Amino acid sequence: MMDDISKTDPEILELVKKEGIRIRNGVELIPSENFVSKAVLQAYATFYTNKYSEGYPGKRYYGGNQFVDMVENLAIERAKKLFGTEHVNVQPYSGSPANQAVFFALLNVGDIFMGFDLSAGGHLTHGSPVNFSGKQYKCVPYNVNRETELLEYDVIMKQAKECKPKMILSGLTAYPRKIDFEAFKEICDEVGAYHFADIAHIAGLCATGLHQNPVPYCDVVTTTTHKTLRGPRGAIIMCKEKHAQAIDKAVFPGLQGGPHDHVTAAKAVAFKEALQPSYKKYCEQIVKNAKALAGSLMDNGLELVTGGTDNHLMVIKLVNKGLTGKGKEIQNALGEAEIYVNKNSIPYEPNTPFNPSGIRLGTPAITTRGMKESEMKVIGESIAKVIDNYTDKAIIEKAKNDILELCNDFPLYPGMEVLR
Ligand SMILES: *Cc1c(COP(=O)(O)O)cnc(C)c1O
Repeated sequence: MMDDISKTDPEILELVKKEGIRIRNGVELIPSENFVSKAVLQAYATFYTNKYSEGYPGKRYYGGNQFVDMVENLAIERAKKLFGTEHVNVQPYSGSPANQAVFFALLNVGDIFMGFDLSAGGHLTHGSPVNFSGKQYKCVPYNVNRETELLEYDVIMKQAKECKPKMILSGLTAYPRKIDFEAFKEICDEVGAYHFADIAHIAGLCATGLHQNPVPYCDVVTTTTHKTLRGPRGAIIMCKEKHAQAIDKAVFPGLQGGPHDHVTAAKAVAFKEALQPSYKKYCEQIVKNAKALAGSLMDNGLELVTGGTDNHLMVIKLVNKGLTGKGKEIQNALGEAEIYVNKNSIPYEPNTPFNPSGIRLGTPAITTRGMKESEMKVIGESIAKVIDNYTDKAIIEKAKNDILELCNDFPLYPGMEVLR
């Protein structure tokens, strides 16, 4: 596949190779990232990228869609099987547009909804004032308990009774514990609100029984397809049959034009992979690795939000190390050691979102590489050393060498064994 680009655009090819070396020689701990299979990459790099197919299977606005329809129907069938949902739309371009479609389908501009506070673990699309969700709708944020840093459902219930939201959005982007979707449903039923869950991060765990599946407890559920689900960049929207028409209309023609059929093909492949027993084993290992990494970080003197993790992610609190607001510096120092993480707010963040006091990390990507508990121990030690000495070039260099040695045993994609 690379023969033509080597002639047409060697500059871009060189950058593709450089990225290959970066991901091969470093550990990817950003919890929203993963490495798709070669099969997913192959489905993605097909001439389905050329096709226009506005509409839905059997009801298109363009001709020549007989095979696109089959691809989209396969993606739909597989997603339904994976999550046990009544209806699914597989066309959303990504997580944020999928969420926008849900707002568009269920609410009117100006309506009140409740969403998870951004600094405590929610997503921008859950009501942040800089996002469409906070600009066009009235968000009443719910937060975690200041001491335990856990969600408190009785407090959320009380808040919901006071503000009477039309919708409550559950879901996380940085909360390291399980979410009780059934409890959210009880709150929604009590106040007559729609329940919308966004499982972008934990979709794989929900599909394999490692986390409660929100589908039975929700009007609508969205997920990205590129995080734990290990598919191409994109999203899907699942809903009860009674919302199917409103959701489909919100996606097209409400917000999007032609679906990205090459992405739909790659989504279908990823869903097929996720239905295999090996995927469940993979998800189990993600959680085991997260616990092992959290344990290693804490053994090496670091403090974690909520004191640990039940899912695939964790957030290091830099505050007690005297590093309040140093998330960016720590992220960069770890990056120099080829340990890739992202700076993140902590609950009740004392600093700013651009210079926050936390580091978020997770295990989906390194688990795909085949790393296990013993590797987590080494990675945790390296992270702790770099954080404690983040301006010390020699220590960063030592960590980088240790990480490279570790990565040499896990080549990532076939052919990357000797990539330097
Ligand atoms: C990642 C994420 C999204 C957004 O996905 P994009 O594809 O980046 O738009 C939405 N919701 C949650 C909870 C996420 O973690």
